Amino acid sequence: MELLKSSKKYQLFINGEWKNSISNQFIEVINPATGNIVGQVASGNIVETKEAIDAACDSFFSWSKETSKARADILMRLYFLLLENEEYLASVITNEMGKPIVQARKEVQTAAEHFRWNAEEARRIYGQTIQSSEKQKRLSIIRQPVGPVAAITPWNFPLSMVARKLAPALASGCTIVLKPAEQTPISAIELFKLAEKAGVPNGVINLVIGNPKEIGDVLLEDKRIRKITFTGSTEVGKLLYKNAAKQVKRVSMELGGHAPMIVFEDCDLESTVNQVVKSKFNNTGQTCVSPNRIYVQQSIKDSFINLFKEQVQSLKMGYGIDENIDVGPVVNQSGLDKVKKHVEDAIQKGATLVVGGTVSDKANHKNGYFYEPTVLDHVDEQMLITNQETFGPVAPIFSFETEDEVVKKANNTDYGLAAYIFTENLSRSVRVSEALEYGMVGINDTVLSQVEGSFGGIKESGIGREGGPGCLEEFLETKWITSTIRD
Ligand code: ADP
Repeated sequence: MELLKSSKKYQLFINGEWKNSISNQFIEVINPATGNIVGQVASGNIVETKEAIDAACDSFFSWSKETSKARADILMRLYFLLLENEEYLASVITNEMGKPIVQARKEVQTAAEHFRWNAEEARRIYGQTIQSSEKQKRLSIIRQPVGPVAAITPWNFPLSMVARKLAPALASGCTIVLKPAEQTPISAIELFKLAEKAGVPNGVINLVIGNPKEIGDVLLEDKRIRKITFTGSTEVGKLLYKNAAKQVKRVSMELGGHAPMIVFEDCDLESTVNQVVKSKFNNTGQTCVSPNRIYVQQSIKDSFINLFKEQVQSLKMGYGIDENIDVGPVVNQSGLDKVKKHVEDAIQKGATLVVGGTVSDKANHKNGYFYEPTVLDHVDEQMLITNQETFGPVAPIFSFETEDEVVKKANNTDYGLAAYIFTENLSRSVRVSEALEYGMVGINDTVLSQVEGSFGGIKESGIGREGGPGCLEEFLETKWITSTIRD
């Protein structure tokens, strides 16, 4: 059942008011599994973005002066509201983005957890006092919110990516203007409705949707916006980073990845294959931490591929509102074209097809963007798939002989987001995890997105971390205060 209706119209949220855009234009949101329109969203531009910035600036003084307890209470209310509305929100995610409902429910839970974690962290913003070398001096350091923040989020986790930015910004005392991805704005709109219900004051959170460049330029050019927090492609991230430099705005960026997954011969094969399948085909391969290069030690490669193939063949693909669907569509036609191009290029350059390799006609909807779960063997360094993010349900397999060789290969990329290793050898797990040039490493574990951990990358995969201890650092400034005391 499609819960959203094509006739349903959604509005922008500025200074505590839901409103249409001045242009009266709307963006159609398409269900990638069925090709149906699931809703129409008001499309704002320069005028609405400026209004949103004004509101974020006007409300900054009172919000930043609010007690951290009051801010934490609002975030906790939002945590409970998200959980109460889990089923509806999950259906929104599935319908506008395409992921199976089981994964969408998990996304709602993760989004909720970000609000709880940051509510807890909000109470622990500490300063310091320092002993001076002079008797008359008193020295201290205080932490203050950076100011009004601009957030730009992608379509692949349309709710939890928004939560990851909104929660720490609000916990720190910042106000925010959010621009979600135009493909999936409805999840963000539903989250804002709940935030309003939770008691976030007018102007503290603002939502603009529309042409990304137009809105992005206004956000970056306005001196009052003191920070930009972005999740998306490395290409757009670099552009925003460059523009942010003009006013030395603070930046946090979670960009693209090309995760190596290293399977050593001493792993627990069955459990490894289970985890590799789950992680590779989660969100139809459309995650920045998706394994893009699966390196399997030569001695176990045949057994690995046999088991892997069996499991991949049993995955059920289709419109994810059905409980038993494992793999959904990719997000749109250009996503589908990229997957096709990478597979064709690999096969043309010598890769062999283990399973899949075609646009699917087996899914339950003809107009969806379905590509069969695919496994490629004999992949090498010359292929596009080895060097670019595929963002689709394709698992490329490489072989290796030694630990040194595979670490060098794994690190041979400009990306540095996530890496995974499978081994039962403790010393090897320590050696390799320390040698991998990545911001995150999973050892016999593929679930990196946990609120308790610091999510983020190095090299061209980004700057800054989201979640974990110190998650508020990204939204706080340090002020050093020195005073002279008279006797
Ligand atoms: P993807 O390829 O996964 O869509 P993008 O980096 O293009 O990743 O998009 C991530 C977010 O960045 C989306 O919200 C998108 O609208 C936004 N975006 C894209 N181009 C720009 C731009 N020039 N300025 C500001 N935001 C942009």
